[in-house]
Amino acid sequence: MLDPKDRIVEENANGEESDGEHFTDEQHAYIRSMVEKLMEKRILVVYGDEDGNGSEVSYDDDGRKKQCKAVCCSFVFALTKRDVERGVARWNPKRPYFIARDEDGYCPHLDRKTLLCTIWDDRPERCRNYDCRSDGAVWEDWEKRILKKGVFDHLPEAKKDNGSGGDDVEGKDRS
Ligand code: SF4
Repeated sequence: MLDPKDRIVEENANGEESDGEHFTDEQHAYIRSMVEKLMEKRILVVYGDEDGNGSEVSYDDDGRKKQCKAVCCSFVFALTKRDVERGVARWNPKRPYFIARDEDGYCPHLDRKTLLCTIWDDRPERCRNYDCRSDGAVWEDWEKRILKKGVFDHLPEAKKDNGSGGDDVEGKDRS
């Protein structure tokens, strides 16, 4: 999955990846702004790369949601073509076809009171396959119920609190 915000890769003449180390900061900024413009004009779109054969993850969180506050539903990911064609999950019109996010940084399909998904039966493939138990961006230790330090730091509210601005709509990738 390409996320133009996260990584720009250069290839050398042999087709080997070098991790963009030859671009200056200004060049990176320019490329990113071009990618953003192309996405906004729908000249470039990004789909999630799930093949539709992933197994659905299901487990009892045993009350952990009170701790994690469904933070995974604030992470960024691209919808698959099948998700887009189903037409249920909302996507970000400025970054097709990444999942939409509300001003609070969360997915518009999350019920903020119950922390449950309101489109559960039609949730995107990434949401079906995702397993936070093994996501080090969420849990430092699932068994011991220790959340990763700073797990909420990307959310606008936290950014306001720590003085780093509250209107950034980027976010963590849900991988
Ligand atoms: S679609 Fe549902 S499960 Fe997926 S991020 Fe949104 S609220 Fe969470």
